[in-house]
Amino acid sequence: MKYHIDDDECDDNEDGDDIKTDVISNKLIKTTKGNKMSCGHFTVPDTLFDYTKVNLQGSLHPGLNCPVCGRSWSIYELVVYCNMSEDEKNFFLRVALLNERNARELQSHEQIDRIDALYVQEEDAENPEDASGQGATLIP
Ligand SMILES: [Zn+2]
Repeated sequence: MKYHIDDDECDDNEDGDDIKTDVISNKLIKTTKGNKMSCGHFTVPDTLFDYTKVNLQGSLHPGLNCPVCGRSWSIYELVVYCNMSEDEKNFFLRVALLNERNARELQSHEQIDRIDALYVQEEDAENPEDASGQGATLIP
């Protein structure tokens, strides 16, 4: 059998160019064009940057999670593997910081709500009106 294939797509071992699956786009990528993330999965800068733009803003985490294994990617890892420019880097570091702050603030609000709820409950328990009020209606 004789066939010819353009090397670009199909040879996966010349020059040690392995093919991996992009963990975000699911496309096949050469390892030389992508990066191995801290979790061990691969992705390319453009795909990672799109993923970062969509998912980081407005989240409550200072980084992102790998869509496959769920391990976290820190903002510093994202900055490096997205090949961010200086401006992009400054912007996304700020986004990450804001996310962290929002998460902390939300948590403290939840704590205050819980304390408030506790306080109201105690107030009700100390208030004898309920019990005596019910008793009073029974008297003809
Ligand atoms: Zn992963």
